[in-house]
Amino acid sequence: MEFRKLRLSGFKSFVEPAELRIEPGLTGVVGPNGCGKSNLLEAIRWVMGENSPKSMRSGGMEDVIFAGTATRPPRDFAEVVLHARDDGGDELDVVRRIERGAGSAYRVNGRDVRAKDVSLIFADAATGAHSPALVSQGKIAQVIAAKPTERRMMLEEAAGIAGLHVRRRDAELKLRSTEKNLERLEDLMAGLD
Ligand code: ATP
Repeated sequence: MEFRKLRLSGFKSFVEPAELRIEPGLTGVVGPNGCGKSNLLEAIRWVMGENSPKSMRSGGMEDVIFAGTATRPPRDFAEVVLHARDDGGDELDVVRRIERGAGSAYRVNGRDVRAKDVSLIFADAATGAHSPALVSQGKIAQVIAAKPTERRMMLEEAAGIAGLHVRRRDAELKLRSTEKNLERLEDLMAGLD
């Protein structure tokens, strides 16, 4: 999957709509301290489904909404759009929007979807909010200190098989509910004998 464009509006320090083209190859973001470089990386993780406010350096998820300054009022919502092209060459527009008091909503190519659907799209493409390809400050030290199970998770994400765990859990839940239905059916049939 190739990330091609990122659009932010009301996300952290990006109060005005901002659009960034992501060119093929290595991308570097330079700027003075506090100008929003890390916020950009967080926007990419957030639109891919990051659900831990801590890893967004926030107390709660609504803290990603522009909080206002001495001269500008706060915003009511934050929105990030990631435009990508999948390995089959199809265009993909993923939108995550959060409104105060209303939580997050996701859309993929204009269709409302669940957070889980978005995570699976990226997991299947061997990327996602926790992809080791997104190297933020302190990440290297974290990898060195990681437990074997945590390292295994990183390898699974890199191999594009992390989504299989979610699907296995879903399949197990379905299996259990089908087994219950079968038991009920057997009870009913026994009652008919
Ligand atoms: P450094 O080089 O020091 O790591 P940086 O360029 O990575 O800095 P960020 O950490 O991305 O900068 O941005 C920090 C800025 O974002 C701060 O000025 C902070 O006030 C602002 N910021 C973060 N969250 C919000 C928010 N919800 N509303 C408004 N501004 C915010």
